[in-house]
This record gives sequence, C-alpha cells and structure tokens, in this order.
Amino acid sequence: MNILSRCRIIPINHLSSICRNPSTLAISKPDESLSGDKDVWSDRNVAQSFEFRKILQLCARNGASMEARACHGKIIRFGFQGDVMLSNVIINVYSRCGLVGLARQVFDGMPQRSLVSWNTMMALYNRNGEELKALNMFFELRNEGVMFNEFTISSLLCACVAKSDALDCKQLHCLSVKTCLDLNMFVGTALLDLYAKSGLIKDAMQVFESMQERSLVTWSSMVVGYVHNKFYEEALLLFSRAQRMSLEPNQFTISSVICACANLAALIEGTQIHAVTCKTGLCSNVFVASSLVDMYAKCGGIRESYIIFSEVEEKNIVLWNAMISGFAKHARSVEVMILFEKMQQDGIYPNEFTFSSLLSACGHTGLVEKGRRFFQLMKTEYNLSPNVLHYSCMVDIFGRSGHLSEAYELILSMPFDPTASIWGSLLGSCRVYKNIELAEVAAKKLFELEPENAGNHVLLSNIYAANKKWEDIVHSRKLLRDSNVKKVRGKSWIEIKNKVHTFSVVGSHHPRIQEINAELDELLSEMKRYGYEPDTRHELHDVEEGQKEELLRRHSEKLALAFGLMGLPKGSTVRIMKNLRICGDCHEFMKVASMVTRRCIIVRDVNRFHHFSDGHCSCGEFW
Ligand code: ZN
Ligand code: ZN
Repeated sequence: MNILSRCRIIPINHLSSICRNPSTLAISKPDESLSGDKDVWSDRNVAQSFEFRKILQLCARNGASMEARACHGKIIRFGFQGDVMLSNVIINVYSRCGLVGLARQVFDGMPQRSLVSWNTMMALYNRNGEELKALNMFFELRNEGVMFNEFTISSLLCACVAKSDALDCKQLHCLSVKTCLDLNMFVGTALLDLYAKSGLIKDAMQVFESMQERSLVTWSSMVVGYVHNKFYEEALLLFSRAQRMSLEPNQFTISSVICACANLAALIEGTQIHAVTCKTGLCSNVFVASSLVDMYAKCGGIRESYIIFSEVEEKNIVLWNAMISGFAKHARSVEVMILFEKMQQDGIYPNEFTFSSLLSACGHTGLVEKGRRFFQLMKTEYNLSPNVLHYSCMVDIFGRSGHLSEAYELILSMPFDPTASIWGSLLGSCRVYKNIELAEVAAKKLFELEPENAGNHVLLSNIYAANKKWEDIVHSRKLLRDSNVKKVRGKSWIEIKNKVHTFSVVGSHHPRIQEINAELDELLSEMKRYGYEPDTRHELHDVEEGQKEELLRRHSEKLALAFGLMGLPKGSTVRIMKNLRICGDCHEFMKVASMVTRRCIIVRDVNRFHHFSDGHCSCGEFW
C-alpha cells in the first residue's frame, strides 16, 4: 500500500482512526516467529518505522496533537521507542503542535541521540520564543562532546537574533570561523542577519561580501538589514546589484526597498521598483501594495497611492492604515474620515494606528471637536487605550488651535511621562500664540529631556525675540553656549535624473555649487520684487545681521530648490526632503517662490508635507 499517496488525501478526522488502528496501515507488532531470521526481521521493522514516520509527519502538517500522542503511544507499545530517527520525528511533531514539554521528555528519554535530535530541539526552542533554552542546549551539547554542524550554528544564531546580542554574535562568528563553518551559506546568512539586527551593519556587510555562495535569502536579509539600519541608499544599490544578476526578489526584499525609497523620497527609483513588482506579480500582494501606498504618499504622490490602494481587492488593516495615514500626512482630512467609515463598512476593525492617523489629520486641519470625539471614541467604543502617540496628537490638536491651557492640562493628566516631542509640540504652539509663560515651562522640560538638542534653545529664544524680550534672549543664548550642545545640521535632498543630491548649510560640496548660488541669487532678487524679505529672526547663529542674511540664504532647502529649478523640466513639480522642521523664513520663501516660478513645490520636512503653490501652503501655517 502506498502510504504517501494515502497521506496526502487523508482528511484530519480519519487521522485519529488510523492512529487508533494502525493495522490499517499494515503496521503490526514485530513478528516473533521471524526472530530467527535477523535480516527479514529488521527489514520489516524498518518498513514499519517508516509507516509511523509518515503518520507523524501528517500529524505535524495538520497540527494534530491528539493523534500525534496516540501514535506515540502505539510506538511505545510496539517497542519502537529506541528508534533514533523515529524519536527525532516525534520531537518535531510535538514542536509543531506546541507541546514543548513533551518534546523535551522524548529527547531526555532517548537512549541514543543523533545530531539531528539536538538541532531539532534547538529549532523547537527558537520557534517557541525560548531562545535562552536553545542557547543552553548548545552548552549541553558541547559538554557531552557532541559534534555540531552548520544547522546547529544557524539555530544558535537565530536564538541570538531574538536577543540582538552583539557579544554573542562576535563569539559565534569566531566559533564558526574556527570550525570552518563560516563559509557555509546558511551560517553566513544567519550571521549577517544577526549582525544587521544588532545594529552592526558594517560587520553584516563584511560577512555578505566574504560569502562565496549566496542564496536569495542571503540577498534579501542584507537588503532588509540595510533598511532596518536606515542605510537606505546602500539598500537600493544592493537591490540593483541583485537585479543585474537577474535574481527574483521576494515580498520582503521588495517591501524593504520600497520603504527605502519612501524614506529617501526617491520617487523615480520607487516607480521603477513598482514596475518590478508588476513584472513579478508581487503588486497584488497586500503587504507589497501597502508599502507602495506608503511610498507614493511619502513622495508626494497621493493620487498614485490611492490608485494602488483601490486596485487591491482583499484589503487588510495594514493597507487601510497605510492609505489613511497617507491622506493624513497630506492634510486631506475629508478623505481620512471617508476611508475610516469605508473600512468599517468593509468589516475591518480600526486599531491604534488608524486612530493615530485620524488624530493627526485632525491636528493638521484644526478640527478640535472631531479630534476630541475620536479620542473619546477609541476608548469607549473601540476599547483601545490611547498610547503616547495619541496623547501627543491631542496635545498637537489643542496647541495648534490655541487651546494651550487645555494642552498643558492634558500633558499633566497623562498616565505616562510626557516625551520630548510632546513638550516640543507645546513649545511650537507657544511660539505661534506668543505664550511666554508656558513656553518657558515646556522649554525647561525639554532642556532636561534633550540636553543635546540645540533646537529647543533656538525655539525659546525665537519666542523671546518675537515678544521683544531682549534680556531673556541674551540669557538663553548664554545658556545655549554654556550647555555645550551641538546643533543638528540641517540637510535637504532632491532627486534629479535618478540621482539623489544632498545639500547642507555649511560647506555645500556640490560640484555645481557656484551655478546653484547664481540661480538662487537671481530667484531672490525677483522674489524681492514680489515683496519677500528675509526674516533673520530664524537664523540663530550668533553673528552680525548681514552675515545672518547670508546664512539664511544658504538654508539647505533653498539650495535644493535652486538646483531643482536648474535640473528639472519646466513646469514640473519640485520635491524636496528635509531632515529638520522647515524654518519660518524658508516657509515664506517657498510660498513666494511657488508664485514666482509658477511651480508646485513639495517640501517634506521631519513633521509633515508642505504643498506650496500660487503663494500658499497646504499646511495653513501650522507646522
Ligand atoms: Zn530655513
Ligand atoms: Zn507649510
């Protein structure tokens, strides 16, 4: 009887009857009358052990724990418990069924073990999130003097991944070099994955480059590792290297590189990868589609996001959230509210991420009452407890709409310690509404929480300046100098002809910097005719007024815009990305520039999108 073909078609409810009555599978007790004939006897046993293995594998596939135990009982009754191979399979089945304790009992009761036994137990512990036990298992193995192989080391590395322990990582690397297992593909892949997850991306890259043989998983792990460590450009370069070798990407690689494009606001690369997903048929994958939706939204292409979103038939919560968050980032609150309704009609229950987007949309568009209602609803109707992000959004909503004391009260009533970004948001609102008392409270907290961030000192002295509190400015400048903080350098990126160009205020090393400066000067003089005046209050270097204007002129987003105007086709949208919050002067500058150049300018700063066109910005002056 061909058990294999039977196994595939046996429905699960028949499994139990087979286990109760294995004679249906031609398994019977070892025949004593044959005991004189050793060869025949053992041949028959081998066949029976094989039949048991097949049943157990079937149990493993179906997660049928009761049947597996029944089968185990029969194995003991028939005297097969000494069969090492069979015991390994039993351990594996119990592991698949989540019966870790039973698996360990079988392991401990084995009179003899093969290395497979050890590896199976270690893999079991890894799968069940008991990495420490897997590590201990390795020490037991070493104590018993058992030889280990590449699978043992891979299991061990997997156990360390969960702990992200750099020390273990180095020790295991040494061990694998000593035992000549480092050149093995599985070991190399697990090793680079562990290095990447421990934040040691350079070591990961070295392992990757030294490997003689690489699987798809190796490539994928390295790309994912780069993205995980925010090495987005390196991720894109590695992906294109894999493409040149005609390696077929999987959904993890694709989602990761799309995420890299989103973070670099690299629309052209993003579009090319979109084309790859269509070619490989991965664009119907809901996770890939979600990262595409997110990427287009972050690159300013909210229309494209919506098209991809609409085309996916079976939408899950991740996709809905990606689209809702995209609309929220673009301050399209009407669309956010409509989608929120639609997702529920579709039978998808909103989660905390959905509410973060809803509340942030309310913040960007000044919908105080709606925000307040959603904040209540999530607790009362959806049984979700607001996390720090939701509180932060609420503080933002109150702050932006001028309800400063309500914002402050909410901060004081929070069930956890307020974060720096919450105080930062309050400080920002105090700037807009010129509330010096609260600004000082918020700034003091920020100086404690972020002693290294000069931006807070800058914001506070801006508030003093706007309120003509000259003495306080002198004091706060002194505080800034004494506190020895470093100012995070502002940087902007723009993508032109497949290349990302980076600009920073000090020492822009762009090869065409002279042309860029000339273009910027020309634009500035034309803008001045339209009434633009540089606002030097936003330049906080301690220098003279004339020098301030020069420094302000060289804010990175202005340089990026000038370069964009030189390199992009006439009339096309200029997309700029910035690592900090855009300053008041640059904001004004972009508004006037959009009018003078008749272009749409999109600046994505660290907080949100600004769509500048015809002298206006989509943010409505709140950022
Ligand atoms: Zn600026
Ligand atoms: Zn704006």
